[in-house]
Amino acid sequence: MTTGQFNLVVLGKQGAGKGTQSQRLCEKYSLAHISTGDILRAAVQAGTTLGLEVKSVLDSGGLVSDDLVNKLVEDRFKEEDAKRGGVLDGFPRNIGQAEALEELLGANGLKLCLYIELPNELVMQRLSSRRVCQECGTTYKDTDPAAISGTCEVCGGDVVQRSDDQPEAIQKRLDIFERDTAPLLSFYEKKGILETVNGDESVDAVADAINAVLSSRGLV
Ligand code: AMP
Repeated sequence: MTTGQFNLVVLGKQGAGKGTQSQRLCEKYSLAHISTGDILRAAVQAGTTLGLEVKSVLDSGGLVSDDLVNKLVEDRFKEEDAKRGGVLDGFPRNIGQAEALEELLGANGLKLCLYIELPNELVMQRLSSRRVCQECGTTYKDTDPAAISGTCEVCGGDVVQRSDDQPEAIQKRLDIFERDTAPLLSFYEKKGILETVNGDESVDAVADAINAVLSSRGLV
């Protein structure tokens, strides 16, 4: 099945900047931002059946089932804004999900896997000061005016600390990354579509590095 012309996966530990960079890519190239974490958090906030089912897993920093997220992604690709393709943020998280994605998009449907690299100490530092808008997902530092006032500058939504940005949940997610998600790097490297950028730079510098990669591969 071909679901779009340009699909890419953004991989990285939590706090590496996946959400921010994915949003920028989507705006620049008119792609759908497909963030399984955002979809799940929105469901929790809205108190839907799905939200009630996954709330405790999200709060603890664990992973929800492959079947559930695979279906969310499949449905998300059917939406109008995904016609040109999508930037996958937080999916796939393991080899099983990567295989499901390959089945959904077809053998050559995924053009690139971008890995935003960041050491664990920096992940800890960044996440403990991260605040996020509950409505639109825009992230702030705890010292930013929007975080201090608690009101998002983009949409006016509430700016809060994520329940899984607490030390125990952060460590659990780092462990899961090493065990389940890191193997995706060699999975995509073998397919010749892996590119790594340094996440320990300003948002603009990381975005520039990503655009350089896209150009060098002739993708834009
Ligand atoms: P994220 O915003 O990507 O860090 O995701 C937040 C939480 O949503 C994760 O800690 C998981 O509980 C859940 N989640 C998001 N994406 C996935 C996925 N691909 N597979 C399983 N669980 C996921």
